[in-house]
Amino acid sequence: MPYIQFLGAAGTVTGSKHLINTTYDSSSKHGFQVLIDCGLFQGQKEWRERNWQDTPVPARGIDAVVLTHAHLDHCGWIPRLVKEGFRGPIYATQPTIDLCSVVLPDSGHLQEEDAAFYNKRKVSKHHPALPLYSLKEAQDCLRYFKPVAVEQTTQLSAELAFRFVRAAHILGSCMVEITLQTNGRSRRLLFTGDIGRVRDSLIAPGKVVHSGPQENETADVLVMESTYGNRQHPDTDPRPELARLIRETAQRGGSVIVPAFAVERTQKFLFILKRLMETGQIPRLPVYCDSPMAIRAVEIFLKHTEEYTERAAELIRTYGSPIEWPGFTFALTAEQSKKINESHYPSIIVSSSGMVTGGRILHHMAQRLPDPKNLVIFIGFQAPGTRGAIIKSGAPEVKIFGEFVPIRAQVAALEQFSDHADPPEMLEWLRTFKNKPGATYLVHGEPAAAAQLRERMKKELGWNVQVAEYMERVEVE
Ligand SMILES: [Zn+2]
Repeated sequence: MPYIQFLGAAGTVTGSKHLINTTYDSSSKHGFQVLIDCGLFQGQKEWRERNWQDTPVPARGIDAVVLTHAHLDHCGWIPRLVKEGFRGPIYATQPTIDLCSVVLPDSGHLQEEDAAFYNKRKVSKHHPALPLYSLKEAQDCLRYFKPVAVEQTTQLSAELAFRFVRAAHILGSCMVEITLQTNGRSRRLLFTGDIGRVRDSLIAPGKVVHSGPQENETADVLVMESTYGNRQHPDTDPRPELARLIRETAQRGGSVIVPAFAVERTQKFLFILKRLMETGQIPRLPVYCDSPMAIRAVEIFLKHTEEYTERAAELIRTYGSPIEWPGFTFALTAEQSKKINESHYPSIIVSSSGMVTGGRILHHMAQRLPDPKNLVIFIGFQAPGTRGAIIKSGAPEVKIFGEFVPIRAQVAALEQFSDHADPPEMLEWLRTFKNKPGATYLVHGEPAAAAQLRERMKKELGWNVQVAEYMERVEVE
């Protein structure tokens, strides 16, 4: 019997890796093996340590990777997989490949920086501390990527074919429809990756890419994300509150620090700031975008006009490229980044990583958190155990660069900027399915989120839903 094995994003929101094994393959008899996503574990140490373990299946025994989108928790382990011997094709949409060509080398760079930091401080158990993979290794793995158009069917083996359909999560993001033909039977498997917002309106402003995931799906087996399984996005427009928070901070002479995911969230947020300034809702404060990855991603976004919503296209027609906006500074080099620290006038600093796990945001946090004049705004999900979650929780201090930094700045969170569907949106989408899947497995959620979504799906849809467990293997009947 073919099976799916959950090698990551089971019991947690990071490290997405789902293995399909046909158990029989006309050419090899070992079964054809495809990995859907190959993400990095982030957050709590117990999860991060899994990045250092080998895959339970030897990497060279995996025949292909199909990648849903370019967020690190879905693609960030690819360089390591290649380092361990994987040599097959990695299928993704062209915008996803373009984004990966920025995101993966940046991740390699951060891995090297981390290792160097631990070696300098000698705080690692391992001497010398090594990077999970280097910048060069990340660059080298890009040669295995193969672009596939949305809705084009690709036959991977005699038994297995796949097709991308829209997920509407970030630029280039897709779900993966798998067709399995074994034992004279055909089955459809659907892997959602991350599911974008279903509604695109005042309550989910700034959406860059197509609104709403592909409707009217059929699936015998559904593997679905559950990040927001136990929470609902506020149903109010966040922009008036955002404007008020920024105005108040500027009035007391403070700066606004926004940790933002470099891909999609930063671009979307810059356009929102621009609109608020142009309409006079916030003062024209200097805006610093301090993330080389986000800056390169801006260029990739501008290239892929086919992905835009009508509203995003209109914003870009009106305001042009953010790189050219007066008052907006894009810090590519470390020197430019350091200069931002010297600015003591009110400003807005948008920097990554979005969960304050690494990157330049660490310097800004270390410098600005102790001052009550400043404001930190979270506009994205903060996984448990990350610095972002600690700061957001109201903790009195947070450890940055090995030292405790007191948190005296104002801390706010606006959940509406999420690129993940919430339960009402997920149910709205699931109701468009043409059939009831024989089995649904929830992945990519904290245990409480997955459990609550499971109950709702069982109650409101009457579906057979299970929460996937780490390393669990389920047969595809
Ligand atoms: Zn994502």
